[in-house]
Amino acid sequence: MATTAAAEAIPAAPALIDELVAANRILYDQGVVDGFGHISVRHDKTEGHFLLARSMAPGLVTSADIMEFDAEGNPLDAAGRTPYLERFIHSEIYKTRPEVQAVVHSHSPSVIPFGVVATPLQPIYHMSSFLGAGVPVFEIRDSGGPATDMLVRNPALGAALARALGDRPVALLRGHGNVVVGGSIREVVFRAVYTEVNARLAAEALRLGEGRMVFLNDQEAAAATQTNRAQIGRAWDLWKAKALGIAR
Ligand SMILES: [Zn+2]
Repeated sequence: MATTAAAEAIPAAPALIDELVAANRILYDQGVVDGFGHISVRHDKTEGHFLLARSMAPGLVTSADIMEFDAEGNPLDAAGRTPYLERFIHSEIYKTRPEVQAVVHSHSPSVIPFGVVATPLQPIYHMSSFLGAGVPVFEIRDSGGPATDMLVRNPALGAALARALGDRPVALLRGHGNVVVGGSIREVVFRAVYTEVNARLAAEALRLGEGRMVFLNDQEAAAATQTNRAQIGRAWDLWKAKALGIAR
């Protein structure tokens, strides 16, 4: 199944690369990533392969920075470019989730507290209804022991994270960040942005409500997710225009 890193790389569609570049800019502009974090998409021509920028700040990514990786997370065409240490988050999730087309890893700040307390991250409003599937917390000590640098820096840790994620759209990494998956670049960006917004709003509600909160129930979450599916393009168009400097 694994293709060797020596295999000939078939170029991905330029439109897919452009979309991945735009997604990097949007995630920065929307406050999901800062100098760190990354987004990948499955290669459109080579099964098992995926596209991910070289190790750099997402807000500065251009098409020349997009690298191709095989199913094990090995770069095919490094050409002097350094890959992200945590690329195994992407490779291991793609192995276990055939329906997933795109993956975001970020340290989006409002989400961090929910990875270290007993209060679970739940959908506070309809825009984040996809969280109704449940948000597991990945405890790196369980697989990496008590002295890691917290990074998912090898395939074994990536596989453990993929197991914690299971069939859900979002998992939190305790003391680190989160991972979000989707059926397209646009869907995963939508989910990453609204995971951050949801966490911010939930923390505010916790303060106002002194711990008592009402979240979307399972049926509401499922129905709202169905509705939102048709609205993703609307958010994408606005975010892209703003991130690329077309709108303010
Ligand atoms: Zn990270």
